[in-house]
Amino acid sequence: MDKITELKKLEEKIRNNKSLPLIESNLVFGEGNPDCAVMFVGEAPGFHEDKLSRPFVGRAGQLLDKLIVEIGWKRSDVYISNIVKRRPPENRDPMPEEIEAYKPYLAEQIEIINPKIIAPLGRFSMNYFLPFAKISRDQGKVFEIATPTSQGSDGAKRIIYPLYHPAAALRATAVLDDLRAAFKRLPEVVSGKYNAEKSEAEIVTPTVNTKKKTAPQEKLF
Ligand code: URA
Repeated sequence: MDKITELKKLEEKIRNNKSLPLIESNLVFGEGNPDCAVMFVGEAPGFHEDKLSRPFVGRAGQLLDKLIVEIGWKRSDVYISNIVKRRPPENRDPMPEEIEAYKPYLAEQIEIINPKIIAPLGRFSMNYFLPFAKISRDQGKVFEIATPTSQGSDGAKRIIYPLYHPAAALRATAVLDDLRAAFKRLPEVVSGKYNAEKSEAEIVTPTVNTKKKTAPQEKLF
């Protein structure tokens, strides 16, 4: 089965699961190039995303698009999704049980797309991949982990490149500067050049099972 068909099947599976939380909101599955090198993962759709059933189409999305264009890419080159695939009311933060309910679907989406690099946008998404990371300390760093499968076991190794959430960058110029600087390095992260050129201290290879409560990464960061 090709990736587009597999993704369509997954979208239908989510739509048909009526026991998921936030069922009163529209499903925002994700969109983009299923053969991308980089998959961006946000936290949850907001008002505009809910209206259009598309990820990152509001103000934060416009900034994301701008940053993508600034590095010479197009939005259609990458894949954009969220952990929680329906809008929480009043744009509140997603609750742990909502993340828990939707995360097997994100894991499946990642397995289908099979991106080399995942760029989590903001701390909720970052902590799904790197439970002990801190966004202000770890954004713009290159991590390599075995990404969880939908069954919760360790899956394929991928680069995780955490970034500030664009909505946070809209609120603070210093955050925008850091986000833009990290974005500028994305092409090098994709080519592997960034890894090769940086000091070992900046390249972290934790063998982490996100289900465990131990903190092997803490020693490495
Ligand atoms: N913020 C997110 O985390 N995701 C979206 O799709 C839009 C805004």
